[in-house]
Amino acid sequence: MPPAADLRAWLDHLAAHDRLAVVRPGVGLRHELAAIAKRLDGERATFFPRPGGHDIAVVSGLLGARAWIADAMGVPEAQILDRFAEAAANPLPWAEITDAPAQQVVHETVDLYKQLPVPTHNELDSGAYVSAGLLIARNPRTGVQNVSIHRCQVSAPDELGILLLPRHTNAFFEEAEQRDEPLEVAVVIGVDPLTLLASQAIAPLDHDELEIAGALHGAPLEVVRCLTSQLRVPAHAEIVLEGRILPRVRAPEGPFGEFPQYYGERADRHVLKLDRLTHRRDAIFHTIIGGANEHLLLGAIPREATLLGHLRRSFPSVLDVHLSMGGVGRYVLYVRMRPRQPGEAKNVIAGAFAGHYDLKTVIVVDEDVDIHDPREVEWAVTTRFQADRDLVLIANAQCSKLDPSTRDGLGAKLGFDATVPLDAPPARFVRIRVPGQDSVDLDQALDAQAGSNWRARA
Ligand code: MN
Repeated sequence: MPPAADLRAWLDHLAAHDRLAVVRPGVGLRHELAAIAKRLDGERATFFPRPGGHDIAVVSGLLGARAWIADAMGVPEAQILDRFAEAAANPLPWAEITDAPAQQVVHETVDLYKQLPVPTHNELDSGAYVSAGLLIARNPRTGVQNVSIHRCQVSAPDELGILLLPRHTNAFFEEAEQRDEPLEVAVVIGVDPLTLLASQAIAPLDHDELEIAGALHGAPLEVVRCLTSQLRVPAHAEIVLEGRILPRVRAPEGPFGEFPQYYGERADRHVLKLDRLTHRRDAIFHTIIGGANEHLLLGAIPREATLLGHLRRSFPSVLDVHLSMGGVGRYVLYVRMRPRQPGEAKNVIAGAFAGHYDLKTVIVVDEDVDIHDPREVEWAVTTRFQADRDLVLIANAQCSKLDPSTRDGLGAKLGFDATVPLDAPPARFVRIRVPGQDSVDLDQALDAQAGSNWRARA
């Protein structure tokens, strides 16, 4: 079975590569589970049997590093973005099956407190949250599905409070609400890593992210019809909640610890009423800790792929992009390029800001700079950038509302052209280099017998 076929295959793969820690049974769902998961963030995924006495296990940290994502995609790390872009451009329609594992166990009524081990992560979170649920909805006009992840606060035994940002799910809901109708949705928990990644694709409206998941798998994704609606959900998912977002109902939601490492504020938000719960036998509940590597990388990789494609359409000189982890995988973009025209890097900066409103800072560097190493990027800014000549500043632009330094999403864009000017004297920017540094054979060079005993050889 390919490593990313479903969640269980992925856990087997992580375990085989010493990337999975199994925690003692019975860990507390309030803070204790998140504390352990966060301590091991990026090193190992965490599996929690019988958390809080529940039958259903919890798992977190499924995509702790880029190398793990490359494994799931079956490509070297350097090809992650091209592979993702190729899948997004060539979606594969899903294949419907019956008798799906996701529906092995059916609960006619939903009681989240009893049926699911939903953890509480951060100190000031309003309570337990379903944080890794893929919310699936259909365009009421076209019938095409959409997949996105929303934070879901457990507000009542059969009720979730959800944050809908102004994107596709929200567009569908507004249409339904205008007719005074609820929007049928499913919340899918515990899917394979490629479907998780596909859910974050920056795809146009009416591009079903489950078809991008199929393309990433190289085979149509198997789906099953929900029991209470026409929605199709991944057939091998661990857990599926079926329900409706209610029209003209809003209720308090938040605060909740988000990817920028701050709390999303409490406000009146949409309400999702749950009608049915289905799950696999021995189901596994996936939770994403706000701001953990998994959270940042799930946002970063599909955005990088989209931004790279977007920039390359106008600027063939752009070679690679990277959303830095310190920039929370969303706000700070490094661009590597080979400028051919004076001023071209500034156009690239402007182009990047048009690619996604979340971008706040764009740093453009030359081909010789490793954009996966923040120290290299800082060095390029330090030695190739002059603020009076190379800075781009755009005031009062649309930014991320979750960035606490904005005025409710209104903020400034900052661009750094850290490329060497094309008319610079060639000798001035020659990078120093020690010949042989990369190729020297250390096994040959070092005195293994002496080790660190320098006195023996003095
Ligand atoms: Mn979409």
